[in-house]
Amino acid sequence: MINRQRISDEFARQAAIASPSFKEGGMAAYLHERLVRMGAAVEFDRTGPLIGSESGNLIARFPGSKQGAPFMLSGHMDTVTPAEGVEPVLENGVFRSKGETILGADDKAGLSEIIEAIEVLKEQRIAHVPLEVVITVCEEIGLLGAKHLDFGTLQAKWGVALDTCGIDRAINRAPAANRMIIKVFGHEAHAGVAPETGISAIQVVSKAIARMPLGRIDAETTANIGVIEGGLAANIIPKQVTLKAEVRSHNPEKLRLQTERMLKYLEEEVDAATIVLDGKPVHAALALEINDDYPAMQVPPDAPILKLFKEAGAALRRPLEIAAAGGGSDANIFNQNGIETVILGSGMENVHSVNEEVSVEDMVKVTELLVEMIRRA
Ligand SMILES: [Zn+2]
Repeated sequence: MINRQRISDEFARQAAIASPSFKEGGMAAYLHERLVRMGAAVEFDRTGPLIGSESGNLIARFPGSKQGAPFMLSGHMDTVTPAEGVEPVLENGVFRSKGETILGADDKAGLSEIIEAIEVLKEQRIAHVPLEVVITVCEEIGLLGAKHLDFGTLQAKWGVALDTCGIDRAINRAPAANRMIIKVFGHEAHAGVAPETGISAIQVVSKAIARMPLGRIDAETTANIGVIEGGLAANIIPKQVTLKAEVRSHNPEKLRLQTERMLKYLEEEVDAATIVLDGKPVHAALALEINDDYPAMQVPPDAPILKLFKEAGAALRRPLEIAAAGGGSDANIFNQNGIETVILGSGMENVHSVNEEVSVEDMVKVTELLVEMIRRA
């Protein structure tokens, strides 16, 4: 049923078009032309100029050949780097790059599977509900495309994003995340001549960090301080330290609690670091920037989209896996905006590295599952 050569050619064509985040123009033009040729009404939203990308999000609509609620198929057209001059190489049925760049199977394997699935629906005259294909930009740099998508223009209330490793698996839960930039200000002084007149920002921060639980906090929550920068020289008591930190949790309450706990220790240590200079108190200070990067995603096990996934898997006699993700993706934003979305494995492996790969066989299997899901939607 699936045309192995066609999906292989499709992937090779897409992979050869470099499309790092913000530079999706070539890929957008290709997808536009390809989807129009397949009979879709294709438009780009106004996200491009808003975020400084060459392209906006692409929305392609295929009319249904039967009545029913529209179904969304999604992926992202941008990739991580290094992406300039990607040359996909097919060897023993597996696509890899030549070695100097990523392959871009994340997410071009998913996009190729969506296109092949729709080709098959048309060719086999399989009745289906209206389809909305949503291909975002700048997913890899903070879900920027999805965050700027005008959800009012979409009709689908359920769907899939093809954007995780493995096959025959669906992700139904993903954590929310807070990202923080924390600046701690002390008081500069000569470390040898007048240390009493200084407050070391490095020491204040160190005391706070030493008290913080970090790493895996519980089964649902993680926390990390990933960057620490500050100080000028060994003989100067440092007046500023900048920390970059994150907390992730599948549970919004735990996300809040862990974030507050980290900030509380910082506040306490900053408050404790006071000296008196010329009869006046001098305090350390704190400046915070917290971004709630994306909300948690929780698709319940009995949700229609997961029922559909299980029915399709059973029809194909596939062993299925339903799992939680450790990070956010466009699907967090889709779910937040009322489109019940699970993430499907697209067969891509070793993503975000020059060893990235995907096999044609896996792309064929994913497409079979996708066709089965659309047929039953
Ligand atoms: Zn991806």
